[in-house]
Amino acid sequence: MFDVQKIRSDFPALDQQVYGKPLVYFDNGATTLKPKVVIDTLQEIYSKRNSNVHRGIHYLSLRMTEEYEEARKRVRKFINARSEKEIIFTNGTTASINTISSTFGEEFVKEGDEILISAMEHHSNIVPWQILAQRKAAILKVIPMNDQGEIVMEKLDELMHEGIRILALNHVSNALGTINPVKEIIQKAHERNIPVLLDGAQAIPHGDVDVQDLDCDFYAFSGHKVYGPNGIGVLYGKEEWLEKLPPWQGGGDMVEKVSFEKTSFAELPLKFEAGTANYPAAIGMAKALDYIDALGKDQIAAYEKELLDYATLKLSAIDGLKIFGAAANKISIVSFLLEGIHQEDTGMVLDKMGLALRTGTHCAEPVMTRFGISGTVRASMVFYNTKEEIDKLYEGLIKLRQMFR
Ligand code: PMP
Repeated sequence: MFDVQKIRSDFPALDQQVYGKPLVYFDNGATTLKPKVVIDTLQEIYSKRNSNVHRGIHYLSLRMTEEYEEARKRVRKFINARSEKEIIFTNGTTASINTISSTFGEEFVKEGDEILISAMEHHSNIVPWQILAQRKAAILKVIPMNDQGEIVMEKLDELMHEGIRILALNHVSNALGTINPVKEIIQKAHERNIPVLLDGAQAIPHGDVDVQDLDCDFYAFSGHKVYGPNGIGVLYGKEEWLEKLPPWQGGGDMVEKVSFEKTSFAELPLKFEAGTANYPAAIGMAKALDYIDALGKDQIAAYEKELLDYATLKLSAIDGLKIFGAAANKISIVSFLLEGIHQEDTGMVLDKMGLALRTGTHCAEPVMTRFGISGTVRASMVFYNTKEEIDKLYEGLIKLRQMFR
């Protein structure tokens, strides 16, 4: 059984009041709270075990290196990559995507080539490609979405042709909650020899991701959105692709031999890890992945679906409330507006009631433009949230509406 009260006791941040009200944390899409096991791991490392990795021959350094490489194995297993060589530690989704837009872009994108993204991307999966398109005089094309916030598959078919160098797509939309049919899309792309990068920032925390089954070429995610520490992320890449790409940043750890005349680079995965890695965060993230596996990814997904259905039903019943994002397949995100009330006013009033929700464009401004709005209020719920908390949101919104009348 899924014991939410017990799970909540693992997250110290949930046990607090804001403005004299118990905190209801519905901003998990921006960042998740951390279980004690992750916090303790960081504290233990910095108190006792800290030492730089891949450098020393002394006890602490060797031990830390071992733990760091164990964390890589843990990530490999979590996403079912074929080899640890395919797991690059970065500082987050944004850095992972930029690694590919820079290196893949340098090597494979030339003038007149097309780069395909979707209409529901986070800025992190738009701007790096725009910068690349400008640098290489390439063309950025966008797959449209329908009013439910789903990719228009017929348009995708029209847009996909051999002149496209790469397709970069979010697995799950942070603004709308849509789970994209990425496996089907990857198949279509591969039929035309187009490699696919998936932005998995919002997908990884909510369910099972198997990169071999998906057959994606690259996959990016952040530790802080999956109950792990900040400043760590993952870039998965198929080994055959990563071998073909040049390094992104140069520095220590990513080299084999250096002279002023010539430098040879380290083997994968270190070729893409220049400078001192954030090894405490990588090890902390591995603990977070253990925590998720112990709860069970399927159980998490089933419980979060219950929360989504409950919240959708409850909030839709509020007069004048409009939900943006009604895809058939969604994660537990409800993005909404109350008629006649600005999203920031809604967010500020709810905040005083102890409810933490995100307001604004959610770093996905083109999504807002598509719906003709300036932003939404977003409740992003995870396994430590409860139906009682959704009731509080409902009551808060009813009160708010009365206030604004
Ligand atoms: N992509 C998506 C879909 C996201 O939700 C986010 C974070 N909001 C990012 C990319 C960027 O992640 P980070 O800031 O951790 O690099």
